[in-house]
Amino acid sequence: MQLQFYNIINDELRGSENTHTVTDPRTEDELWPCPIAATEDFEDAVSAAQKAFTTWSQTTVPERQALLVKLADNLKEHGEELANILAKETGKSAILAGIDVQAAIAQSLYYSQNALQDEIQHEDAHTKIISTHIPIGTVGAICPWNFPLILSNIKVVSSLITGNCVIVKPSPFTPYAVMKWVELARGIFPPGVFQVLNGGAELGALMCSHPGIHKISFTGQTSTGKKVMAACAKTLKKVTLELAGNDACIVLPDADLEKAVVSIASGGFFNAGQVCVASKRIYVHEKIYDEFLEGLVKEVEGKYKVEEDGEVPSVFGPVDNKLQFEIVKGIIEDCKNKGYEIKTGGKTVNVTGSGKGFWLEPTVVSRPPEESLLVQEEQFGPVLPVLSWSDEDDVIRRANLANAGLGASVYSRDLREAERVARRLEAGSVWINQSERPNFAAYFSGIKDSGFGGEMGRQGLLSYAYTKCLHFTK
Ligand code: NAD
Repeated sequence: MQLQFYNIINDELRGSENTHTVTDPRTEDELWPCPIAATEDFEDAVSAAQKAFTTWSQTTVPERQALLVKLADNLKEHGEELANILAKETGKSAILAGIDVQAAIAQSLYYSQNALQDEIQHEDAHTKIISTHIPIGTVGAICPWNFPLILSNIKVVSSLITGNCVIVKPSPFTPYAVMKWVELARGIFPPGVFQVLNGGAELGALMCSHPGIHKISFTGQTSTGKKVMAACAKTLKKVTLELAGNDACIVLPDADLEKAVVSIASGGFFNAGQVCVASKRIYVHEKIYDEFLEGLVKEVEGKYKVEEDGEVPSVFGPVDNKLQFEIVKGIIEDCKNKGYEIKTGGKTVNVTGSGKGFWLEPTVVSRPPEESLLVQEEQFGPVLPVLSWSDEDDVIRRANLANAGLGASVYSRDLREAERVARRLEAGSVWINQSERPNFAAYFSGIKDSGFGGEMGRQGLLSYAYTKCLHFTK
């Protein structure tokens, strides 16, 4: 299938002299040429957004809500086409690519019904104070590659429902579905309100430093997030940083092991571990360690098969790109070189017969040392360390790494006990008896090295608006 892609500026299709292609993670074949936005394209998009903002920012919440429903309908109409493109560029199976599209639809519909409302902040005999939420201006949405549509869409719908314009920059590893989505959505919003530009670090840096962009919502690595924040400081941009996580999962001695094993395998290996809130370090109480490990290995070997066909209903696929593939392979090599016990997996797989593609077996490593690369760094791939603990203070200290501020999980039959442990974990979200799965209604944020601010839920929307107070004297 030969497809064409465009930057979308002021609702117009724009090509470029410079293009790049993405490598299909299944086969290493080159996919379609994708135009790289030039500085002039970026300047034109900023001007179009500035022009559009004067009227778009004055639209009412119900008007914007109605347009979000249209955006969701458009996604539904083109869902299959977009899922097919997304499956190609990410290596996801049909089921996983479908989840990306379906979740984006659900997010749009959620925000079409959950806009920010004015609130009375104070009232007495003489004074009434009302807070209202006004748009910031133009939002630059800088996105990663692991869930291209979901993670772009949350920034887009949050921007639009609050009356901002938005320019999306997908990851250069996965630009296609996002670019096609914006192309297909032309005509829903006034020109200049919803635009897309393809590019890499250079374009991202330009967005962060330009005075015509008023907020950056960034999702990506912690090291990039630091550069983003520094660049945004020069123009005092509002910044949301959704960064990396190294989620700890703590299994208490009374956990329902059968359920915990299923949930934790999914937490670690869904999307081949390329989830910001994947369970990335499993701490199991010493008393149940052997039984848990045996169950986990059985579950992984039985359910997380390496399969080429994108139509196979698998939640496990190749690593998305060569850069990440080399990082994960390096972590596995480090485990081998240091003699850690690999209970299952540990090898690349020749799925296509040509030896090509970024395929790795789901890998479980038993009791690597706490200071190992696998435990200390975010692996962002299909390799999971299983560690043991016996003292609660000790496991909490080990769990609370600086880079572990995004998510965590706790498993116990005793919900009070689980809650007590969850409250001791320094992470933005903690799931109890469930692997880490964000919910649109709940604020999702990283603390410590995992970020700054957050998205989703009512509190997430607040970061896309200024809150202004009107003080009435009676
Ligand atoms: P990345 O930081 O390499 O890139 C993210 C985006 O930033 C890309 O669009 C990239 O082109 C752009 N970029 C690169 N340099 C830039 C610069 N100097 N200024 C502005 N933009 C720049 O991240 P990635 O590898 O694409 O994504 C994987 C990471 O994202 C993982 O660490 C994962 O944990 C994290 N992540 C976090 C969340 C979350 O919600 N907290 C969600 C998904 C992924």
